[in-house]
Amino acid sequence: MNTLLPTSTAGSLPKPEWLAEPETLWSSWKLQGDALMRGKRDALSIALQNQQQAGIDIVSDGEQTRQHFVTTFIEHLAGVNFNQRKTVKIRDRYDASVPTVVGEVTRPAPVFVEDAKYLRAQTKQPIKWALPGPMTMIDTLYDAHYKSREKLAWEFAKILNQEAKALEAAGVDIIQFDEPAFNVFFDEVNDWGIAALERAAQGLQCQTAVHICYGYGIKANTDWKQTLGQQWRQYEQVFPKLQKSSIDIVSLECQNSRVPMELIELIRGKKVMVGAIDVASNNVETPEQVAATLRQALKFVDADKLYPCTNCGMAPMPHSVASGKLNALSAGADIVRRELTL
Ligand SMILES: [Zn+2]
Repeated sequence: MNTLLPTSTAGSLPKPEWLAEPETLWSSWKLQGDALMRGKRDALSIALQNQQQAGIDIVSDGEQTRQHFVTTFIEHLAGVNFNQRKTVKIRDRYDASVPTVVGEVTRPAPVFVEDAKYLRAQTKQPIKWALPGPMTMIDTLYDAHYKSREKLAWEFAKILNQEAKALEAAGVDIIQFDEPAFNVFFDEVNDWGIAALERAAQGLQCQTAVHICYGYGIKANTDWKQTLGQQWRQYEQVFPKLQKSSIDIVSLECQNSRVPMELIELIRGKKVMVGAIDVASNNVETPEQVAATLRQALKFVDADKLYPCTNCGMAPMPHSVASGKLNALSAGADIVRRELTL
């Protein structure tokens, strides 16, 4: 990456209102069949343009072809029955109706590779692609087959690795695994979660990232955050082992969160995607607020390893808010970039 402080988003952007219900998380599609396929592609192009207009350096598909960051991937796998649903507690926090693992899980065909090629063909900028992480996948399912979270995570890691290698071959520069579950199941993360993540990234030549956040700004998450106290020290549990892992980049949330910035010291040596945009509030940050967060982070991460980013995805936001936040991210990074090069 030649640019100093290259900006990117954690993943999702709002979808056009002709494609899916706006300002709703995991909203259903408004189109069907071929029209849906074309609509998703058009939405991907628009999301790319929005990022380019805001001056975002590392661009993505804005997750326009996905309804849900975990289940859309799982829908393409064999061994999971979506009609056989169970209500389970996910992230140890809220009940959700989830599909059931009924047999050996496999990936009969590539999932996002055509979408990635489509994005690649439209820009020469570095592109980042998000996949769910193995631990977050198993935490979004009921397992009636393997009966072991670790075993199922390992099987998913192998599948993710197949997909990641195909995405790399399609020209993706950074493959990001979303692991919000890393902020919850600390013992499992250290026992096998990070090992499963490394298995998912095994053999990749492109950059690899793990995104660990406190979730979208939905009520279950904001209520949970209220219980976490004055200082959110969850990262402290997993960063030491993550620092020793093969993953290149760690994406975390810093804007308006109670994460003590000095916890970043625990991953010294890694590239850090610092969340400088709050996704749980429709208040658009000023460039100066973004810059202040980045300056704080610079005390614990070398400038050449700091990647300004959003806390999490922006899918449920009004378009105007998301656009404003992209612009603020870009302008805030620019302020600090100028300070660093003076
Ligand atoms: Zn997130």
